[in-house]
Amino acid sequence: MPCEALAKEAKPPDCPMTEEIAKRLKVFERVLAEIPEIVYAGDPVLRRQTEKVSVAEGLEVAERLEGVLRRYRSVTGAGRGLAAPQIGESKSVFIIWMDDGIEVFLNPEIVEKSATTNFYRELCISAALVAADVERPEWVVLEWTDRNGKRRREKFDGLKARLYQHEEAHLRGRLNLDEAVPGGIQFAAFDPLKQQLRKTMRE
Ligand SMILES: [Zn+2]
Repeated sequence: MPCEALAKEAKPPDCPMTEEIAKRLKVFERVLAEIPEIVYAGDPVLRRQTEKVSVAEGLEVAERLEGVLRRYRSVTGAGRGLAAPQIGESKSVFIIWMDDGIEVFLNPEIVEKSATTNFYRELCISAALVAADVERPEWVVLEWTDRNGKRRREKFDGLKARLYQHEEAHLRGRLNLDEAVPGGIQFAAFDPLKQQLRKTMRE
């Protein structure tokens, strides 16, 4: 809809953003139609503590997650992680899309985390167009079983720490919407300045 037509109806304060929302809604319509496996906030499976998996069972779930994430990315051009509850499986598995391919995390556990924190406006495939500003530890030590069945332990910081914490929380039945700072939930907020890690400010 052109800006003038919108202005006649509701006088939106910021027309370019309104067009951005219209564009995103169209993409979301396609996600709903073409990727029916995805479940959304409100579905009880997203609230459950997940079950531990064997390597064979975990890899089978990971393969299905990969298929869904591939299709999601081809429709939206975005999406970096997906956890099993997001396709209705209450299993302790998530996958991450990295530059060099897909990484699989079975039975992951955060065993150590920093006292220092930062902020990031997180989007979630299961929260559709609702963004949540979440404060999380700056770094974490993660333990997980990889696709070869090997138990690993590694420290992550920056965006990886952020991403892994978001996915790990899914396995405990927690969404970014649950962890948002007060007033930090917004519909269709696409402010690029918030799409980076910000320092916590304490007085
Ligand atoms: Zn998510």
